[in-house]
Amino acid sequence: MDELANWRVVGHEWAVRGLAHSLAADRVAHAYLLTGPHAIGKTTLARALAQALECAGARPPCGECDACRKIARNRHPDVQIIEGVPVGFKFDEKAPPPPPRSNDRERRILKIDQIRLVQHDLSRAPFQARWKIMILRRFEEANEEAANAFLKTLEEPPAHARLILTARDASVLLPTIASRCQVLALRPLPIAQVEQALVERWRVEPQTALLLARLSGGRLGWAVRASANHALLDARGARLDALAAVLREGRAERLSRAGDLAKDSDKLPELLEEWLGWWRDVLLTHNGDAQRIANVDRQDLLREQAARYSLEQIQAALQNIQATAQYLTQNVNARLALQVLFLKLPLATHIGV
Ligand SMILES: [Zn+2]
Repeated sequence: MDELANWRVVGHEWAVRGLAHSLAADRVAHAYLLTGPHAIGKTTLARALAQALECAGARPPCGECDACRKIARNRHPDVQIIEGVPVGFKFDEKAPPPPPRSNDRERRILKIDQIRLVQHDLSRAPFQARWKIMILRRFEEANEEAANAFLKTLEEPPAHARLILTARDASVLLPTIASRCQVLALRPLPIAQVEQALVERWRVEPQTALLLARLSGGRLGWAVRASANHALLDARGARLDALAAVLREGRAERLSRAGDLAKDSDKLPELLEEWLGWWRDVLLTHNGDAQRIANVDRQDLLREQAARYSLEQIQAALQNIQATAQYLTQNVNARLALQVLFLKLPLATHIGV
């Protein structure tokens, strides 16, 4: 493991080792596709690979040479990170660049104009370094036109080009894209590894590190971001508070709360995902498996609910929330879907409170 320490990538050891070997043998593929859930470390690994390729130090990626430093700051003229633009954004080389992504769920499109610029750029020799490297993030956002145009580049990349794509899952891309790349499927890290990295590398206080690691589900990028941005944890707290409130309320209050929450329909997927995680913890606690729960900061409430609700009620809540999340992807009326869900969640009156 120590031989790979200079990569400064937490986890994904098998992938780093494979890349380091290819590099040492000068057999780096023309194109890689890094897949895995959001914020799992795909772009971090892509950037480390770009550094390793361009590094002028003795042990690439050294992290200290001019190339490594510029790549770390996204300032290397031969290494570019490309990602989609907001829906409706008019792409124009001379126009100001698109605003940064406002949140993880913002939908963007990678357009053919962007691919054409990439192709134009790749056709020229590197300015400073050995390779021209293009990191195309979230390639699942490429529309069909753009993906098809990019296929040509994947089929016959210029000799000085190295392409690194990232995507949630290879199966959401055109099969012809994935088949022309060497695919590295990254998986969530062990929770303990996330926790340890937060404490040792990001100096997060141990109790917060434990909570963030559990909530992250092994997505280190998410945990690091949440450690630096309290708004993420605050929003999660508010979503859990809303659930606790619903469970205390009667029918009329629930209907009106559903109406209020549905006004912000963009936020519903995240809300329901959080609630699923909560009910999974209630189930684990109910089953006496509480050491695996994610919401470690609210164990008292978990214990209370695990004792109050029957196994059937807990399982029904999980199924109903999951079904509602599914309906919402199908363009149903969000308010109605949420109201139906809220009436199905266990009512306090049923249990004599
Ligand atoms: Zn270097």
